[in-house]
Amino acid sequence: MSVVRQIVARNLARVRERMAEAALGCGRDPSDIALVAVVKYVDLPAVEAVIAAGCRELGESRPQQLWRKADALPGDRVHWHLVGHLQRNKIAQTLPYVTLIHSVDSIRLAKAIDERAAEIGRTVPVLLEVNISGDEAKHGFAPDELEPRLAELGELHHIAVRGLMAMAALVGGPQRARRDFAMLRELRDKMAAVAPQNIRLDDLSMGMSSDFEEAIREGATIVRIGSALFAGLENDER
Ligand SMILES: *Cc1c(COP(=O)(O)O)cnc(C)c1O
Repeated sequence: MSVVRQIVARNLARVRERMAEAALGCGRDPSDIALVAVVKYVDLPAVEAVIAAGCRELGESRPQQLWRKADALPGDRVHWHLVGHLQRNKIAQTLPYVTLIHSVDSIRLAKAIDERAAEIGRTVPVLLEVNISGDEAKHGFAPDELEPRLAELGELHHIAVRGLMAMAALVGGPQRARRDFAMLRELRDKMAAVAPQNIRLDDLSMGMSSDFEEAIREGATIVRIGSALFAGLENDER
């Protein structure tokens, strides 16, 4: 096995272990939590390594990079997740590649995806991104903007809303992250009670390398992990 593959396999095993420990520690079944490997910091050798190590759910934050990497990996070995902002002019090219869009951050974007999905006869699974921390630089629905939008979202029949996504505040450490994740879960519970029937809010995509254990303790069903998987690689191995 190449050095790159060894390093990535070891990192992945360690992350999965920590996920399982966090889950068991709060009485959850580890198999209820999916890992999306965010490959935005690395190029094909490291992406191949993470696939070889057994991870089939890959995430990218930039659409162009997602297209490029997906095209370079033959066959349908992997599922692609878009976790970053999607500009409306990139929807048409992105839809054929993605299993789940985590980052639907406005009604305008939701409608545009719905429209394009209808044209190609698909229903696209999506999550609604919520700006839970209130960071100016972050995308996402404001928490109190979501409920008034649910009816409108329920009328879009070519997107399938599956849940919510958020990032914790950049500053404040694990305690702040945990509070942010708890807020997302509480918001989800509140929305689930009033959402139209075709909107499902089962999934909570939250938790990254520095805070995924906190996220799991607060109910994450999907964690999005990048740097922890690729630590220890030299620049030319990424
Ligand atoms: C980069 C990124 C991640 C992964 O971040 P790490 O801290 O490297 O694990 C997760 N989610 C989104 C939306 C990202 O942009």
